[in-house]
Amino acid sequence: MNDPMIALVTGGNKGIGREIAAQLADLGHTVVIGARSLERGEVAAAELRAAGGDVTAVALDVTDTASVHAAADTIRRRFGRLDALINNAGISHRPGADFAGQSPRSADVEHVRFVFETNVFGVITVTSAFLPLLRRSTVPRIVNVSSSAGSLTAISDFANTDPIALGYVPSKTALTAVTMMYARDLIGERILVNAVCPGFVATDLNNHRGVRTPAEGAASAVRMATIDADGPTGTFTDDDGPVAW
Ligand code: NDP
Repeated sequence: MNDPMIALVTGGNKGIGREIAAQLADLGHTVVIGARSLERGEVAAAELRAAGGDVTAVALDVTDTASVHAAADTIRRRFGRLDALINNAGISHRPGADFAGQSPRSADVEHVRFVFETNVFGVITVTSAFLPLLRRSTVPRIVNVSSSAGSLTAISDFANTDPIALGYVPSKTALTAVTMMYARDLIGERILVNAVCPGFVATDLNNHRGVRTPAEGAASAVRMATIDADGPTGTFTDDDGPVAW
């Protein structure tokens, strides 16, 4: 194992994020679950502590700048640094709406904006707030949980029968692009920034239609969160290797 890390997983209270937290804790790392509901975060953290992990929770709503900065302040006071930031929190659609309501033909721009607020702008807000703490790490890593659904090759494949969601799909295209820009900008500071796709995982996000388990989905993020200082940056991968973006 590499040196014990301090890792933050946004949206770590359930689904893939909870599994990322569990697997990092199993590897002996100190994990902070960021949850927009501190109560839900604390329930998940207590479960992972009961399983032997060093896991705590912090209130963190990625769409609320004050909440993000308060979380950064809490982690600075508790640990003084951050070694791995896993930007996992994400939504498929605005509560009350559904995927079908996001098709380009019937798009509601407020709906699209809502999804981008979480999946793209939220990641930028969190990354900006935590960069000072990452700079205090000897091997700082950022992992963005993106999706091959946002791959331009997938979107332009007219034989693809996946639902075309004007909010979710391009939000992941943008997230992967944002990942590449951070990677390039931070290369001189030796901050490793990578995007991963967990595959189609059965979670609340897709009403459990996914075919992979959250544990399987978490593996790619855990792999990138634990790379060595000479590990890659600016990549987009899944369990099978590079993903076209
Ligand atoms: P879930 O719906 O199970 O979990 C999403 C998590 O994100 C929850 O903890 C949720 O919190 C949190 N979250 C949502 N909005 C915010 C916010 N504003 N601030 C903080 N946390 C928030 O989904 P998954 O586990 O499936 O998704 C995790 C990531 O994986 C997402 O980025 C998703 O796009 C990506 N992904 C998932 C795939 C899949 O097949 N499931 C495929 C490809 C990518 P709360 O409990 O409060 O709602």
